[in-house]
Amino acid sequence: MRKVRQIYNATSSHWVGNGFLVQPLFSHMGADKQTDPFLMLDYGAPHVFEPNAGRPRGVGQHPHKGFETVTIAYAGEVAHRDSSGGGGVIGVGDVQWMTAGSGIIHEEFHSEAFGRTGGEFEMVQLWVNLPKKDKNTTPRYQELLNQDIPVIPLDDEAGFVRVIAGEFNGVTGAAKTFTEMNLWDVVLNPSAATTLTLPETHNLLMVVLRGSVLLNGVDEAKQGQLIGFEMTGGDVQLQAVGDEAVKILLLSGVPIDEPVVGYGPFVMNTEAEIQQAITDFNQGRFGQIV
Ligand code: MN
Repeated sequence: MRKVRQIYNATSSHWVGNGFLVQPLFSHMGADKQTDPFLMLDYGAPHVFEPNAGRPRGVGQHPHKGFETVTIAYAGEVAHRDSSGGGGVIGVGDVQWMTAGSGIIHEEFHSEAFGRTGGEFEMVQLWVNLPKKDKNTTPRYQELLNQDIPVIPLDDEAGFVRVIAGEFNGVTGAAKTFTEMNLWDVVLNPSAATTLTLPETHNLLMVVLRGSVLLNGVDEAKQGQLIGFEMTGGDVQLQAVGDEAVKILLLSGVPIDEPVVGYGPFVMNTEAEIQQAITDFNQGRFGQIV
């Protein structure tokens, strides 16, 4: 049995630009909650936006270096452009996986269409660290559309797993990653139960996006909470509580276990590398959005 280590509540929320109202579930480059290889997770719980009256909501041009940003759209649409030439609109169920690597500049806004109509918006932004050897990799942008993300039914019609990255029951996820990890949406039907087995070499975390879940018959977690597990082998039993379906974002991965030095949008291994990143950015070496 892989035991729950701790269940966390978001303790604050803040706006990223004027488009994303988020609750940090872990931050401080993951140092607060044993999340390696994941650095940060902002949960944008469901929030209704009015039509924008022609004023786009979001966050304008800003840099990143040394890691990857992963944005999952659960409701609403996000438009993105970056200096690697990447860009596009992601909608419900789509994921953008941006590798900042050696340095990138991007902007993140609600899509024009969503801005016009407004409506419910829900998203997750996750920062995934890169190992030292890949921190200066060429920036790239993976647009993972809902239809390209494998969906695997659970036994006994308990629900399904959507494999954004990693592997479930021998099926490989949509995203290319630099280190070994899983990023799954797990949906449990009302009253259903399932058992998941994750590699014992992985840190394991879950975010409850909908409903309430009983873990290993012992611990209960509800919408908006983060569950951290002991790093051991063994199964995790999940049981949907009440008459609601449960939706969980599951993250697991092999720790990179290297020094992490973060400064705003840059995450490197040393202070000197951070200083260099700031210099490179200020001197225009991250390119530009064209
Ligand atoms: Mn960004």
